Amino acid sequence: MEHKRSAEIFEEAVKYIPGGVNSPVRAFKSVGINPIFIDHAHGSHIWDVDGNEYIDFICSWGPLILGHSNEQITAGIADMVAKGTSYGVPTAIEVEMAKLIVDAYKGIDKVRMVNSGTEATMSALRVARGYTGRNKILKFEGCYHGHSDALLVKSGSGTITYGVPTSPGVPADVVKHTLVTPYNNIEALEAIFNEQGDDIAAVIVEPIGGNMGLVPAERDFLEALRKITQEHGTVLIFDEVITGFRIAYGSSREYFDIEPDMVCFGKIIGGGLPVGAYAGKAEIMDMVSPVGPVYQAGTLSGNPLAMYIGKKQLEYLRDHQEVYKELEEKANYLAQGIRTHLQDLGLNYHVAQAGSLVCLFFTDKEVRNYEDAMTCDTEKFNHYFQALLEQGVLVGPAQYEAMFLSTAHTKEDLDKALVAIGNALRIAHNK
Ligand SMILES: *Cc1c(COP(=O)(O)O)cnc(C)c1O
Repeated sequence: MEHKRSAEIFEEAVKYIPGGVNSPVRAFKSVGINPIFIDHAHGSHIWDVDGNEYIDFICSWGPLILGHSNEQITAGIADMVAKGTSYGVPTAIEVEMAKLIVDAYKGIDKVRMVNSGTEATMSALRVARGYTGRNKILKFEGCYHGHSDALLVKSGSGTITYGVPTSPGVPADVVKHTLVTPYNNIEALEAIFNEQGDDIAAVIVEPIGGNMGLVPAERDFLEALRKITQEHGTVLIFDEVITGFRIAYGSSREYFDIEPDMVCFGKIIGGGLPVGAYAGKAEIMDMVSPVGPVYQAGTLSGNPLAMYIGKKQLEYLRDHQEVYKELEEKANYLAQGIRTHLQDLGLNYHVAQAGSLVCLFFTDKEVRNYEDAMTCDTEKFNHYFQALLEQGVLVGPAQYEAMFLSTAHTKEDLDKALVAIGNALRIAHNK
């Protein structure tokens, strides 16, 4: 497989863009090769500028649950563009979009649109702090909530529960209010709440962890979290930037039947355009300016093109909720196929699946949290990744990413991918 044109573009790219990419994971750095540059995509397939075709399991990291350039979603966008790309004055479609989201997610009353998942979580936390009048927030190790300062933290060593910055440029002072504790660990959660619960404004959690590989929260953990936050008047925020409208039409709220106080969206609700949103009960959301005192704004928030595409994607999902079962069946088929390969090769790796998400962890350990995920053999994953790419299968270029399925993935795609996965596993393990 040739990547000559991609290599030429990359050489130019690094001169003008840090690392040649606009988001780090796109650099393919963790798998030790240069990135491919994309020309176009359709359905479940994507083509690079070198003319190679791949079955795509990245799907823009989640937004494209109905596949690339789905005409049902994109039709009419040119007419929208002809009417203007942004006004900075309200449009009816923003209201329609808000209503769609509120109707889909039980227990929320109002929603504010923003431009990314990062903005959504950052803003939700500000609102929760304003609402409770408290400063502290709690997150779980390995959960990713975008790149705002207060959330770029990992747990400190030993008995220290407050976080330490994971990036230069984030002052320790800024994260001193951010507590970090292990995912799926009720005892650790209770210990922190017993000590500091009445000072904690909000807990933010991915109900299905999608940024340390794929690590679903255990039901009793989420139930304990709901209970303890309620007892302490702490706002529970579900970060559903990946899971929103993916795991079920009613998102994790429906999937787990657990109701948070606030929720963050991104990815799917924009259908591939830059969007985020945060939502909650009226009492909390009415803290937001211009009704309340908590400031949050955005020049392009509720952008008409993004609303158009996002709304059509959500309407399609609302009217075709059978797709969730189909997606789950496809993901099951893929996960089982991978397990069969592992068995044949005498490998005992962990395969996680939830809804339309699948992840092969290169570890024998069952992965319940970040520490477990860190036991993966990333070197072997890198060989596996490269062998997949060579065979026309594109997965996230890092061990700690899930495979994203869309309605466009066919049984033929999955069978082809499974053959490639079997080969790639053999290559990675010299079998
Ligand atoms: C992708 C993601 C974000 C950040 O969204 P961006 O649009 O990249 O800023 C936040 N939370 C979760 C769970 C995500 O997967």
